[in-house]
Amino acid sequence: MSTENTEKTQCLIIGSGPAGYTAAIYAARADLKPILYQGLQPGGQLTETTEVENFPGYPEGTNGPQMMEDLKAQAERFESDIRWGIITEVDFSQRPFTAKADDGKTIIAETVIIATGATARWLGMPSEAEYNGYGVSACATCDGYFYKGKDVVVVGGGDTAAEEATYLAKLCKKVYLIHRRDELRASKAMQKRVLNTPNIEMVWDSVPKEILGETEGFAKKVTAVMVENVKTGEKRKIDIDGFFVAIGHKPNSDIFKEYIDVNEVGYIKTVPGSTATNVEGVYAAGDVQDHVFRQAVTAAGTGCMAAIEAERFLGMQE
Ligand code: NDP
Repeated sequence: MSTENTEKTQCLIIGSGPAGYTAAIYAARADLKPILYQGLQPGGQLTETTEVENFPGYPEGTNGPQMMEDLKAQAERFESDIRWGIITEVDFSQRPFTAKADDGKTIIAETVIIATGATARWLGMPSEAEYNGYGVSACATCDGYFYKGKDVVVVGGGDTAAEEATYLAKLCKKVYLIHRRDELRASKAMQKRVLNTPNIEMVWDSVPKEILGETEGFAKKVTAVMVENVKTGEKRKIDIDGFFVAIGHKPNSDIFKEYIDVNEVGYIKTVPGSTATNVEGVYAAGDVQDHVFRQAVTAAGTGCMAAIEAERFLGMQE
């Protein structure tokens, strides 16, 4: 029996990016009557982007916030119970599982789909926030196309930075890879690719100090970045159109770690080819379990898989 503050559901979905909403669409159409808590950032990382041109089905492209509104509306059309709020605590020690939300509710769930995503790490400069979505991005695959034939900067020295720099080098005239040390952290193979790409210039031992740009009405654009060499203190202005931050992501898995296996950096481990976690009945979809692809369409794909797996699991319990 559900009481005012305790509710039961066949399927609790935590998170509201493309993974969470797609899971809701599938779970609701399977009559699981899912409850979805949207989390800290309703709509997820895509609400921070402007244009989205690579999600199939939008020949003219769309924008991130609109796409998330569309996905939410589609989930609501099938009677998903979508709520503004955060799940703050879970108990996966036995099924049904328990989750507490910041609206005071306790949800008793037969299955749980974790779709809490990952948060891009930012450098923290005020100018980085000012131009976010207007030349500043944390995703080359998403936004690189807008800088075709132009000059861009990538910041970071890991595999993501190396991958983003080589991806952008195929589209852009020139890529400056700014790294705070004098050697890359990326795998040897990736380092080799970066160092052998003629239009990537390494800017070693350096950190960005300020992104410069122009504002005209509501339109803003990046024009340059001021970079400082941490060893010599020397400053350099680099003219660019795009600024890509690739200093890592933090998967939003903290509240699940007591029960759910994660890798060394916190990404939830799922069974290959599945969204199943180490706890039967708990599934993980989207960026919280994917550090490799991190795309809206792959997140939506795993959201679909999670809902189907939850439905099949419930079917086997009857
Ligand atoms: P990493 O944590 O590996 O690298 C982050 C990079 O950003 C480091 O070079 C670090 O510098 C730099 N950095 C961190 N903070 C700052 C800061 N405040 N200012 C300037 N620079 C900063 O993150 P990645 O996203 O690259 O990779 C995460 C994981 O995913 C890794 O395990 C990686 O191997 C994996 N991955 C694998 C891929 C693949 O297999 N195809 C593709 C992408 C990622 P420093 O080196 O000095 O610490």
